[in-house]
Amino acid sequence: MFYPEIFKLAIKTAQNAPQNEIPVSAVVAIENKIISVATNNTFATGKDWHHAEYIAVCNTIHELQVRYLTDASIYITLEPCIFCSALLEKVRVGHIYFGAYNTDKPALMECFSKFLYIKNNVEIIGGIYERACNNILVNFFNKMRKK
Ligand SMILES: [Zn+2]
Repeated sequence: MFYPEIFKLAIKTAQNAPQNEIPVSAVVAIENKIISVATNNTFATGKDWHHAEYIAVCNTIHELQVRYLTDASIYITLEPCIFCSALLEKVRVGHIYFGAYNTDKPALMECFSKFLYIKNNVEIIGGIYERACNNILVNFFNKMRKK
């Protein structure tokens, strides 16, 4: 089930993302219980795959000591990249809710049909609060360009 207040938390978290990081946020929840909240963390770690979804999923698995997240929902401000899409498929996330579509790079909507599991079982809804999520990214890149 989709909880708007959790998505709003993801938006607020992205708005307050660490400087220099592309402001993307992910929240993993089971029903309305929030398990993990994360932003991109590629600069501080020097690891370009430390995307918000990756961190939120890893923290959730660590926290719950489980292998699969079939009961969980992930709320993300940006459509997951291919790497994160594969991760979400591997851990069998039950519900994927994302905001902005990633129009620059191949991403979830383009590759999920190739994942048998995702095609069959997962609920995917994109474009949630799309304008708000897009604005966070547009503002960030505008600011970067001015620097
Ligand atoms: Zn990613």
